[in-house]
Amino acid sequence: MPVDATKPYDPDNIFARILRGEIPCRKVYEDQHALAFHDINPQAPEHILVIPKGAYVSWDDFSANGSEAEIAGFVRAVGHVAREAGLLGSGYRLLANTGLDGHQEVPHLHVHIFGGRPLGPMLA
Ligand code: 5GP
Repeated sequence: MPVDATKPYDPDNIFARILRGEIPCRKVYEDQHALAFHDINPQAPEHILVIPKGAYVSWDDFSANGSEAEIAGFVRAVGHVAREAGLLGSGYRLLANTGLDGHQEVPHLHVHIFGGRPLGPMLA
């Protein structure tokens, strides 16, 4: 079910619990600003999620309320993860579903990295 991204942050959402180590994940990268792990239900040969460590519901929340250091650190982490996954040569897609129409299911900002095959003009 998609979430209303205008609601306050829920500290018990599944990605908050992954950040606290309460739920396992297949981690691919971590630094002070970001955690990256494999999606549990991959939609491409490479399907990695990158999340900020701060409590941000959505891209909108993060871009409006994140600090300059958090935003810069997160953007750099996304690029680093894609590069380290070997996706730069063949290319990849970034996606941040936001709110109800965007079909965001987990109310902690996450950027999907898809790659490893031609993705076509758009993921529906
Ligand atoms: P959204 O629709 O919110 O952009 O995507 C949420 C993504 O999180 C989905 O691709 C889903 O497979 C993934 N996901 C949901 N729960 C878990 C989990 O517990 N662990 C991992 N690794 N991925 C999850």
